[in-house]
Amino acid sequence: MRKKLIAGNWKLFNNAYETESLINKLIDLRAAEMGADVVVAPPFTSLHAAHRAAGRSGIELAGQDVFWEEKGAFTGEIAPGMLLDAGCKWVIIGHSERRQYFGETDETVNRKINAALKAGLKPIVCVGETLRERESDQTTAVIGKQLEGGFAGIAAGMFEKITVAYEPVWAIGTGKTATGRQAQEVHAFIRGWLGKKHGGATAQIVRILYGGSVKSSNAAELMALPDIDGALVGGASLIADDFSAIIRLSAKTGK
Ligand code: PEP
Repeated sequence: MRKKLIAGNWKLFNNAYETESLINKLIDLRAAEMGADVVVAPPFTSLHAAHRAAGRSGIELAGQDVFWEEKGAFTGEIAPGMLLDAGCKWVIIGHSERRQYFGETDETVNRKINAALKAGLKPIVCVGETLRERESDQTTAVIGKQLEGGFAGIAAGMFEKITVAYEPVWAIGTGKTATGRQAQEVHAFIRGWLGKKHGGATAQIVRILYGGSVKSSNAAELMALPDIDGALVGGASLIADDFSAIIRLSAKTGK
């Protein structure tokens, strides 16, 4: 049985003060005591405040991205060790907004996964198709390519540290959610890929999150599906009541 993981991607929202206040609200709502693992990814500059506020609440932190070098002349980049130093245990890699706007490729995703694992960070690796790709029946081909490229050379034994997030690009921040059937189909494809590549045991331990307009109104249905092990939540993770409702509903769908 895979414990549910609910991760909030705060994107370019919440300065240090707002971060502290949102984490305090989540602690008041006992968000990390509902039976699911809870991770939030504030902007880099708010990580220290988040770490202080989270204390021993059980809320864990993720970076929204990472660079593959530990140090050097790489203006604007953040090293894996710096994320650890700021209190992160996790890091989101290959989010579609990074792929769309900042030139992220499967190759850079692969370098980032390797660097994160080497440093002891747990990568949450995002894959997903655009609307055009879905409509032209390329969904599994696109995701298969992202998995092959992103995880090239990663040994089976490393997958206990890795989480995959399936995020259809057309569902992110649009209010459109994949139907349960669409999501389950792709999650099963991803688990099948893991099984073929790294064996059934590995495929069974990897958590596969769904992301794309997850809200309290659709969380229960999605999280009950056999291959959905949690959610990567954008917009709704910025509102403490909504995020904790998603966590509560997900934790209830034990399977
Ligand atoms: C995301 O940014 O990963 C995401 C899923 O956003 P939203 O929940 O707002 O669609």
